Order: sequence, then C-alpha cells, then structure tokens
Amino acid sequence: MQELTHYINGEHVAGTSGRFGDVYNPATGEVQAKCPLATTEEVNKAVEIAAAAQPAWAAVNPQRRARVLMKFVDLLNRDMDKLAEALSREHGKTFPDAKGDVQRGLEVVEYCIGAPQMLKGEFTDSAGPGIDIYSMRQPLGVTAGITPFNFPAMIPMWMFAPAIACGNAFILKPSERDPSVPLMLAELLEEAGLPKGILQVVNGDKEAVDAILHNPVIQSIGFVGSTPIAEYIYATGCANGKRVQCFGGAKNHMIVMPDADMDQAADALVGAGYGAAGERCMAISVAVPVGEETADRLIEKLVPRIEKLKVGPYTAGDDVDYGPVVTAAAKENILRLVQSGVDQGAKLVVDGRDFSLQGYENGFFVGPHLFDHVTTDMDIYKKEIFGPVLSTVRAKTYEEALSYAMDHEYGNGTAIFTRDGDTARDFANRVNIGMVGINVPIPVPLAYHTFGGWKKSAFGDLNQHGPDAFKFYTRTKTVTARWPSGLKEGGEFHFKPMD
Ligand code: NAD
Repeated sequence: MQELTHYINGEHVAGTSGRFGDVYNPATGEVQAKCPLATTEEVNKAVEIAAAAQPAWAAVNPQRRARVLMKFVDLLNRDMDKLAEALSREHGKTFPDAKGDVQRGLEVVEYCIGAPQMLKGEFTDSAGPGIDIYSMRQPLGVTAGITPFNFPAMIPMWMFAPAIACGNAFILKPSERDPSVPLMLAELLEEAGLPKGILQVVNGDKEAVDAILHNPVIQSIGFVGSTPIAEYIYATGCANGKRVQCFGGAKNHMIVMPDADMDQAADALVGAGYGAAGERCMAISVAVPVGEETADRLIEKLVPRIEKLKVGPYTAGDDVDYGPVVTAAAKENILRLVQSGVDQGAKLVVDGRDFSLQGYENGFFVGPHLFDHVTTDMDIYKKEIFGPVLSTVRAKTYEEALSYAMDHEYGNGTAIFTRDGDTARDFANRVNIGMVGINVPIPVPLAYHTFGGWKKSAFGDLNQHGPDAFKFYTRTKTVTARWPSGLKEGGEFHFKPMD
C-alpha cells in the first residue's frame, strides 16, 4: 500500500497527523494508496515557508518567471502519458479524457506565459502639471487553492499557473480522493526551475481547509467543488478578510428546438451527459426538447445511442466511453437519486441500475440512465446527481424551456440546439447563466477567455483564467508622482482638481 506525502519546500514530506484518506482504484474498488490528512500545524508550517520564499520570487522579473512556465509546458508534454495514467488510475476516467484534463490545464499555463504583457500596468503622462500617474499590479503574497476530485490536473493548474506567474506563492489543497497528479505537477514545476516553497501541496480534508481559512498570512483562496462547501468557504474566507472566489455545482440544461438537427443534438447529449460518467461541472444533465414531437424524436434517437455506450476501466482501451464513478459513496448517492426519480413518477427509459461489469464487480461502475417526463419538483431535477443520468423535461414552447434554465438555482453552463439564428441570439442574450453553447453542448471557454457560472454556481466577482486571473492574483497600486518643481513653491494646503 503506497503512502502518499505532502510536497513542502521542494520535498516529499510524510504526514504527521496519523490520519489518512483512502485513495481507491475506482475500476477495481481496491484501496491503492493512503493520503495523509494534514493538521493545522502542518498547513501553518507550509504557509511560513511560502511567506519566506515569496518576496524573492516576486522580485524575479515577469519574463523570467514566464520562462519557468514555458519549461513546465515542455515537461507536461513530455510526461503527458504518465500523468494521464496516474489520473485515470485514481479518478477512473478514460485515458483520452485524462489527457484532456491535463491538456486543458496546460493551455492555461501557456496563456500565463503572457504574464509580462498582462502585468504591464497603466501610465498617464502629465495627469496634472508635472504629475504622472501609474498603476502597478503587485502580487498578493501567499495564496491558496482548494480543488475537487473531478479535474485533478486541470483545476489546480487553472489556479496555480496565474498565481505563480504573478509572483505569488501558492498552497494547493487538492482533493484527497485523487492527490497523486497534483504532487507530480509540483515536482515538474520544480524541475522547470520554480524555487522551493513557491508551490506546495498540502493534502487534507476539512481540518486543512479550515487551517487555510483561518491563517492570517494567506491573502486569497480559490475554491472549486460543491455548492454547500463553496458557500462555507466564501463566507468564512471573506469574514477573515481574504480575497475569495468559489465555483460550485451545476445543473446544465440543453434546449433542443424543433428545427435542430436531431442526430447532432442526440450525439451531443450523449457525449455531454455521459462523458466522464457525468462527473463534470459542465456536463449536460437536463435535456429540454421543445414540443411533444421534438421530444419523441429526441428520445427515439437517444435510446439506441445510450444503450450502445461502452462502460469500462481505462485499461480497456480507447473505445471505452466512460469509466467508473469516483467512490462507492458516489455510486450509492447516484442510485438513490435514480430510485427517487422512479418513486416520484419520472419515466426511466434507459435503466442502468443492474449494470455490472464482468471481472470488475467491485468497481464503482454505474450504467447509463435516461429519464423522460421529469418535472421541476422532483429531486432528480433539483439536485446535482453528478453521475451518468440524463433527465428530460418536456417544454411546450421556447419561453417555457428558457424559463426552466433561468429558474434553476444553478447557473454554470447551458446550451441551445437550433438552426435559427434569431432564437439562438435571443437565448444567449437573455439566459441568466455564465457559459452558453450554441450548437455546442459543453461550452468551456478556452484559456484566454474566462470560466465561471452565475447564481449558486459561483461566489465572488472574478472568473477563473483569462484576464480575470491576473486581476484575482494581483492587487493594484496607483502612484501619483510629481518631481521637484512643485515642491519649490512650498506646501499645498487645499485639496483641488489637477488642472
Ligand atoms: P467537494 O465540495 O466535496 O470537495 C471539494 C474540495 O473541498 C476538496 O478539496 C475537499 O477536500 C474539500 N472539502 C470537502 N468537504 C469539506 C468540508 N466539509 N469543509 C471544508 N472542505 C471540504 O467537491 P467534489 O466532490 O470534490 O467535486 C465535485 C463538485 O465540484 C461538483 O459539485 C461539481 O459540480 C463541482 N465542480 C464545479 C466546477 C466549477 O467550475 N463550477 C468545476 C469542477 C467541479
């Protein structure tokens, strides 16, 4: 049994709490490693080391800092297969999907190589007689991030790449379910030339998170995970005077208009609903066909596609569509919600409850499920299931379909499938959701745009990556400078406009 470590001051350090979390191989159900769960003292020690290392890193010019990230990109590409294999083994997602996880993180690292441009600041020459004003973007100091299990490579990179590029130190508290890839990323960054203490990985659970929330040296916290924890971290972090951004759960609707290409819509729904076993915050979990005829046609197209899905371990090759869910508890929760859907009157058109995979009976595999005639009062509609379960809510009109997406408490992503530009434009304009796809089911913006939901899917005012990341990880200092001539005329006693 492998005992994992923390990564502190450039070293793998064994945990001292005596508490460990089980890291499973979700395909077999076996515990393959023990993840140390840090104490408050272990977190505080890492923060102390980060605080000592950070000023020298902030003093390295932005271009040299960016070169470390350039080298890091090379190393990520060199080790892509190794990273993806470790990721699949702990998370369960397919090998190509694991590579995608690393790739979408890598793209944000590439974007952050532009840090010198992003950090240039502003300058006004002659804002008043002999007076110049300039604004600088300075690092915050020690920053921290708390990340979820479902993207163990991408989301840590979305946080630490901009934080480090801006001259901060970063404490990463990854998910205790799949901590190996974050540890590997920290090693690679050091190989790329990052000084010790600038990126540290402290593994843990609520105790480590609370230590981060209450450590006075930590200036900012980024969080991605479920909404109840996002709300807790946002409220506590803000009350402790920190800059906080928290991204939470989702229930993403895809509206299918009568004029949509129904084959295209069905293909999109199957990929977006069941890919990664539905464990994506941008997964589509609700299909909203407009009109009874559209709904019937859509269900007719969906059923054979869903029944053909190949569910299996990542080792079974590239034609596996999705793997197991992350833990036995996640599987139980999904099946409990499926049962509630049946009990509350939804029609289970594809029933994956008896799914079992020969040779992997103890793995956390969940067969695909499709519900029709779901209504908004049902638990399967209100709650995030985070599994391979797609619900169909039939709408009579476009306005009714739009209102479903708008009235749901979550607002991460949404999509519309139509051939009508006017409908698509109206939808994108009016919907109160952060990321919108038009004939694109999973509209995750690329690195140079920003990522973030609305409503209960995000707390805070800046998004992840893109230009917002450079704002989140810096604070602005504005200097108003006047050189000697004004001083020759003696003191100035009245506050007056510059003319
Ligand atoms: P989670 O909320 O259980 O855990 C996220 C992090 O919080 C982990 O590091 C965990 O150790 C920590 N944590 C868990 N319980 C805690 C507690 N009581 N106190 C303090 N910290 C705690 O989420 P998860 O199951 O790892 O990830 C799945 C969730 O993340 C889903 O809801 C999904 O929608 C969401 N997610 C959102 C986005 C987004 O960008 N909006 C992206 C990915 C995942």
